[in-house]
Order: sequence, then structure tokens, then C-alpha cells
Amino acid sequence: MVSGGASPLVVLLAAAAAVLIALRVSSAFVLPEGLADIKPPFSNPWSAFKNLSGCHFGDERRGLAKLKDYLWHFGYIPEAAAAGRFNDLFDADMELAIKTYQSNFGLGVTGELDVATVTQMMAPRCGVADVVNGTSTMGNSSAVGLRGRGLFSYSPGEPRWSKKTLKYAIATTETSIDRATLSLVFARAFARWSEATMLNFTETASDADADITIGFHAGDHGDGDPFDGPLGTLAHAFTPTNGRLHLDATETWVADGDVTRASSDAAVDLESVAVHEIGHILGLGHSSVADSVMYPTLTSRTKKVNLANDDVKGIQGLYGGNPNFKGVTSPTTSSREMDSAAAVALSRPRYGLVSAAAAAGALALAL
Ligand SMILES: [Zn+2]
Ligand SMILES: [Zn+2]
Repeated sequence: MVSGGASPLVVLLAAAAAVLIALRVSSAFVLPEGLADIKPPFSNPWSAFKNLSGCHFGDERRGLAKLKDYLWHFGYIPEAAAAGRFNDLFDADMELAIKTYQSNFGLGVTGELDVATVTQMMAPRCGVADVVNGTSTMGNSSAVGLRGRGLFSYSPGEPRWSKKTLKYAIATTETSIDRATLSLVFARAFARWSEATMLNFTETASDADADITIGFHAGDHGDGDPFDGPLGTLAHAFTPTNGRLHLDATETWVADGDVTRASSDAAVDLESVAVHEIGHILGLGHSSVADSVMYPTLTSRTKKVNLANDDVKGIQGLYGGNPNFKGVTSPTTSSREMDSAAAVALSRPRYGLVSAAAAAGALALAL
């Protein structure tokens, strides 16, 4: 290299490096594809997870403790590890937990917090754990044998209702949705499950008379599993024959109309969540099948109410089939969910590009 004047090649490389560095800096604050629904200033209890992208075993980064708390909440870190006392070190337990999570959600099992994994973890979801007593039930059901990865699961011990007709009551406190609309939404949601089985569901006005009680609750509501505000956990329900179904009162619930056209990016479809939670009420756990209603996450502004084959096999394994059942209606449509899954897949090469830009920047700086 000639000393004194910079050669045109060096100038060109330096300019390219400057552009790449600028790109990298701006990219650091751009959410991966598929996160459009939950980007700031949009409030989401898990949006800070985006800062943990790229973390792997041995790293120490602020915020990892919160992610451990998340993994603990959903059963991926053993119950014995107390919540709120986690540190920010990416240890072996965390790596193992992330591998199980990735396996459950059909992601590449890297044990690292890659973009696809972090994206999935930020998605709004059901508050019920995926792993119970250290055993991941998602995709492990023995009831129908192995059909490749991704299967329904049952609550531990496979509890179920012994009677065929169940009564449900809907509490209208803590929601502005009117009773008539709520009745319609839940009647449709229960019908999804009664069509496939010999179960019948009827609404009753009295809690005392009901097998299943449905209510909206905010924050800590006395069952040891507080809700967390908009998005994050959306709802949870108890196993048979408890019958409690709780919805986070602070969600932007859409009870009628087209949720995919909702004005709020935080809009959550009530009927979709109701169908999922009723699955828990009846004894189903989570499924690894992305288009099943028992899949743990539901992207905002998404409708997902049709049972998939996986859901039908699961519920019929507990209660038997309905001879009049016509089978699942088309592939379960869930456009936004599908878009989101595609976006996750697409985000991998995009992330690779950012890394390449960083590497090029480092190379240029060394010149
Ligand atoms: Zn659930
Ligand atoms: Zn609750």
C-alpha cells in the first residue's frame, strides 16, 4: 500500500465500511421480521427479549434473568428454582430449557437465543405451562402413536369430565363486552368441541349451578397466576374438573367483527382464545402443531377457531367421537399466524445479513 495518499480502492472500502457500520447501528433497533405487531411503543411484557438476540451459553447479559423467569413460568426451568431469584448468566440449565422450547415450537434446536426463538418467545400466548413436572408433553402423546413431530397432549394424569353435559356461567364483571355478545362467542367456541364429541354445553346464569366458570380478571386475581397487562399472557384455564377459565381483562378483546381488520395492533380475538382455553378445561394440554388451536401462542389480530386434526384426535381420545362429526373444515385458516411463521423463517437469512455486515465492518476497520 502506498503511504501518503489513499488509493481509490481504500477510499471505496472505507466508504463501504462506513455504510455497513451505519446499517448495523440502525439495525440494532429494528425488530426482526414478524414482530411488526409488537414493536415499541406498543406495550408488551416480553418486548425486552429482543435485546437478548444472539445470546448463548456462557454469556452474561442484563435481561437474561427475566427470560429465565419466563422459561420457569412455562415449565422449562424446574419448579424448584424460585422465580425472581434468577441471575443474568446464560448457564447450562438455560441452554437445556431453550433446546426443549425450540423442539416444542418446531424451531431449530440450537440452544441459543437466535432471532426465530426470541421472536416466538415474544408472541402473546396462553398462560398454561408447556412443560409439567419437568416432562414436556407437547408432541409426546402416546395415545395415537408417533405421527412425526408435533402432537396434542393431555393434562398430567389425563383427568377428564365423567358427565357428558356441562354447564357454564359467564361473569360479565371487568369487561365492557355485553352479555349477549359474550353468550354468542362462547356458544360458538363450545360448539367447536361438542361437534367433534358427544359432549354438550349449556349456558347457565348461576355460578353455583355451573361446572365451568368464565371470567375476566386483571393482574393478581387470587389463583397464584397473575395476569400481566396487554399481550404477554392472554388467558389461562384449569384442568378437569376444576372448570375455571380466566381471561386477562386488560387485553384489547375483539368479540365480534373481523379481528384481522381491527384498528389496534394489540387486538386479540376472544373466540380464538376461548376455543383454546376450553380445550384445557376439557383436559387437553398444548400441542406442537402450529395450526392446531392448542398451540400455545396466538398472534394479535389473528382468528384461529377451527379445530385441526390434531385437536380432534386429542379430544376424541378423551371423550370418544361424534358419529355425526363431518371432520375438520379445510386446513385451519390463520393467515396472520401463517404470515408470522413465514416471517420467522425469513428472518434467519436477514439476521445473517446483519451479522455479515458487522463482520465486514470489523474487517474494514482493520484496514
Ligand atoms: Zn393453553
Ligand atoms: Zn386465573
